[in-house]
Amino acid sequence: MSCNLTNNAALSALRDAVTALYPTQVIDGSSPAFEKAQNSFWNQIQREKAPECFFQPTEACQVAKAMLEVVKRNCPFAIKGGGHSSNPDGCSVNAGFQFDLANLNHVEIAEDRSSVRVGPGVRWGDLFKILEPHGVIAAGGRDYGVGVPGFIFGGGLSYLSTQEGWGIDNLLAVDIVLANGQQITVDKDCHPDLYRALHGGGAHNFGIVTNLTLKLHPYQGMWGGYYAVQEEHFDAVFRAYDKYTQRMTTNGKAHMIVDFFRRDGMMIAVHFMGYPEPLANPPIYDEICRIPSVGNTLRLAEYSNLAAEMQEVTDSRGKRNAYWTVCIGYNIDLLKSAYVAWAQITEPYAKRLRFAFDVNHITPAMRNKGADEGYENVYGLEGPNEPLTNILLTSTWEDKADDDEVVSVLERLGATIENLAREYGKFQSFRFMNYAHQRQDVITSFGEKNKAFLKEVAAKYDPNGVFQRLQVGGFKLDGSRSIS
Ligand SMILES: Cc1cc2nc3c(=O)[nH]c(=O)nc-3n(C[C@H](O)[C@H](O)[C@H](O)COP(=O)(O)OP(=O)(O)OC[C@H]3O[C@@H](n4cnc5c(N)ncnc54)[C@H](O)[C@@H]3O)c2cc1C
Repeated sequence: MSCNLTNNAALSALRDAVTALYPTQVIDGSSPAFEKAQNSFWNQIQREKAPECFFQPTEACQVAKAMLEVVKRNCPFAIKGGGHSSNPDGCSVNAGFQFDLANLNHVEIAEDRSSVRVGPGVRWGDLFKILEPHGVIAAGGRDYGVGVPGFIFGGGLSYLSTQEGWGIDNLLAVDIVLANGQQITVDKDCHPDLYRALHGGGAHNFGIVTNLTLKLHPYQGMWGGYYAVQEEHFDAVFRAYDKYTQRMTTNGKAHMIVDFFRRDGMMIAVHFMGYPEPLANPPIYDEICRIPSVGNTLRLAEYSNLAAEMQEVTDSRGKRNAYWTVCIGYNIDLLKSAYVAWAQITEPYAKRLRFAFDVNHITPAMRNKGADEGYENVYGLEGPNEPLTNILLTSTWEDKADDDEVVSVLERLGATIENLAREYGKFQSFRFMNYAHQRQDVITSFGEKNKAFLKEVAAKYDPNGVFQRLQVGGFKLDGSRSIS
C-alpha cells in the first residue's frame, strides 16, 4: 500500500506497525506528549506541523526496523535531530512519519580523550558541559540548544573554526541506517565514498545517522562574550573589523560574529567573540574594544556558558523565523555597502518585522584544513589563504500572514548583495547549508563535480531514492525542492 496525502490508511498502518514493535515510543495526536514533541522544534512554523506520529527510538536497531516499515508503505517521513533547522520543511512533516531522535543521546568519551561518540539527540551546550571537566572540547555550535547532527552535516561554524575548520572537518566516523534497513559504520577506510559525501552533503540525503564520532581538542577554558555598539560608531566598527580580519589570518585562533539589527528604532552591532583559550582580553580584539559600547559581557568563561548566553541574548525560539545565506569574497568596502543596502531595504518594514545582518568569516582553515589533512569536504572552497565572508540574513516575526512577504524581502536582500559582490569581482556561488533558505539551491552551489559525486554516492547507497522521494526535509541533491 503506498502513502500520499489522500491515502492516510497507509500512514495509519505504518503508525500501528511501529507501535506494535515499540509501544511506548510512538506518540500520536491522542497523547498529551504530542504537543510537547511539536514544541521541541525551534521555529514556530515547524511547530505547526502535525505528523501522523512521532517515533522516539532509543537504539539504532529501532531506527532500522522503523525505516523498513516506512519504506514498505512508501510513506513520507522527516528526521529531527536537535530540531533547529530554520526552514519550514527543515526536519518536520505534515501527515507523515516523524523520526524524533531526542532519546538517542549517548555521549562516550574515548579513553585517550581524542574523540567522542555522540548520539544525534544531543544538543551542543549539553555536550560541552560533559566535555569541559575532561579538558577537551569539540568544534561545535555557538548556541546552546542547536543539535549536533544538523550542525555537523550542514557544515558547522564554531568558536573553534579559525583553528579547526568546519565542524564537518572534525567528523571521524558515522553510524548510519540506510534505506534498506542496513546499519553501517562509515569512516575514512570503510565506505570512503559515503564518508566524503557526508562531509557537507547533508546526512538526510543518504540515511539516518545514529552516532557521530567527533575529534576532540585540548581545552582549558575560553574568553568571550558580547560587545554591543551603537550606529553612531559604525564607521569605527567597520575599520576595526578590517583590522581584526587582517590579524585573524595570522592569529589563527580568534573567532567573532557581528550581528547588526534594530532595537527600539536604533541600529546596533553586537560582536559575539570567542577565543578558544583562557586568555583575558586577547589583543586581536583591542581595536573593537576601544569603541564605546552599550553592553559588554566579555570575560573568561566556559564554552557552555558562552553558548547559554548566546541562546538567551538572541532567543527567538517559538517565533516565526527565516534564514537566507550569501557568500562573498572578503572586502571591507563591499561588506559596508552590503550592510548599507540591507539597512535601506529593511527600513520600511522595521515596525512590523525584525531583520538582522550577521557576518561570519569562512576562514582559511575552513577552506583548506579538511583537504590538507585528508578529510576533504564537498564544498569546493579550497583556495588561497584568504577568508571569505558569509552573510546570514535573518528575520523574526509574529504573524503568519507575513510569511511570504518576509521570504521575498530576504530573497531581494540576497540578490542585492550578490549583485554588489559581482560589481566588486567578489561573487561566490557557495551557499552554506546551515544558514540557507529552502528556496536556495545549496548542493548545486558546491559545483557540478561535487554535485555529480554526491548523486553517484546517493545512487549507490540508496538505489531507490528513498531519501530523495520520501524524506521531506533538508536540501535535496536535485536542488531546493521541498516535497511536503
Ligand atoms: C539559534 C540558532 C543558532 C545557530 N547557531 C549556529 C552556529 O553557531 N553555527 C552553525 O553552523 N549553525 C548554526 N545554526 C544553524 C544550525 O546548525 C542548523 O539549523 C542545523 O541544521 C541544526 O541542527 P539540528 O540537529 O538542531 O537540526 P535539525 O533541524 O534536527 O536537522 C537539520 C537537518 O538535518 C537532518 N538530520 C538531523 N538529524 C539527522 C540524522 N541523525 N540523520 C540524518 N539527517 C538528520 C534533518 O532532517 C534536517 O534536514 C543555528 C541555528 C539556530 C536556530
